[in-house]
Amino acid sequence: MKLFTVGPVEMFPDTLEVATKQLPYFRTPEFSQIMFENEEMFKQSIHAPKEAKTVFLTASGTGAMEAAVINCFTEENRLLVISGGGFGKRFAEICAIHRIPYDELMLDFGETLTEEKLEKFDGRQYDALLVNLHETSTGQLYDIELLANYCEKYNLYFVVDAISAYGADKIDFAKHKIDVLIASSQKALALSPGIAIVEISRRIYEERVLTIQQATLYFDFKSHIDNMKRGQTPFTPAVGILLELHERLEKMQQLGMDNIQKDMRELADRFRRELQKRGFRLPSYPMSNALTPVILEPHAKSMYERLKQEYGLVVTPNGGSLAEVLIRVGHLGNVCWQDYEKLLIAMQQIRATL
Ligand SMILES: *Cc1c(COP(=O)(O)O)cnc(C)c1O
Repeated sequence: MKLFTVGPVEMFPDTLEVATKQLPYFRTPEFSQIMFENEEMFKQSIHAPKEAKTVFLTASGTGAMEAAVINCFTEENRLLVISGGGFGKRFAEICAIHRIPYDELMLDFGETLTEEKLEKFDGRQYDALLVNLHETSTGQLYDIELLANYCEKYNLYFVVDAISAYGADKIDFAKHKIDVLIASSQKALALSPGIAIVEISRRIYEERVLTIQQATLYFDFKSHIDNMKRGQTPFTPAVGILLELHERLEKMQQLGMDNIQKDMRELADRFRRELQKRGFRLPSYPMSNALTPVILEPHAKSMYERLKQEYGLVVTPNGGSLAEVLIRVGHLGNVCWQDYEKLLIAMQQIRATL
């Protein structure tokens, strides 16, 4: 089996090695030191300033999305959600459940987010903009400069779900004046699922997190941030994944975040060129380096199933209205060009019989 998924993805041998070890007890100075280093290395990887706060949640990415919303906003706010697929919709659902007023900028499949579409929404009505920088359900990468400028112009908090963009696409916490950035262990970090990381700007921490009465115990950022002063979490974290994270962040630091992204972009670009040469169709919107969406309407599902059953190659299927339209081929984790050569041949062979 080879995974071309977006999470969990093919893990690196060094991560797997860490994952085989007996877990230590964690209320110790040694584990606190690991956590301080995790914080430091994560901040460096996104160019976050020292004064920003880092929260490590034992949750999947969605847990962190919900935690971010309820720690920063209330029924008295109004939020603008970029809704271009399944993950945009999830932000809207979270707002609805917590009765936080919001509007959605809806994008149909195939539509690119443009300045014109954004400016149809009067930014003065809102307190924050929520976006999944890479809308993983379609593969569209939104223009972070465009969104950052809009937030600056209207003085909005900028909340970025970077769960599938972190480690794959360019993100600069300081330069883009991000207020909340969310990452998760099972995507480009290529770790076990279960840890989500939330980076919080000083301004949103002081103006929102500290002033809101959060109706949550487990997800209360105040208590997480307080505990991180001593390198700890309020409750038992996924200790093993935090150790995997430490190993991976060290490795990423050695390799350099820019080099990792450049390699991933080259891999993705080469795969896309080869697909097009073979007559496969790709969407026209800007794409993340994390995955390549391939339009196979109306055979996407059988392509996915046959790749898995006949070749042991696991791409990412789509749900909902795109189930028969798209497969998504991930570029995250321990994959290399030889893997894509095999995949290309398999895709051609299956297509010939569809
Ligand atoms: C994977 C992902 C999530 C989180 O999904 P979980 O299954 O909760 O980990 C959230 N947002 C985006 C953009 C994602 O790609």
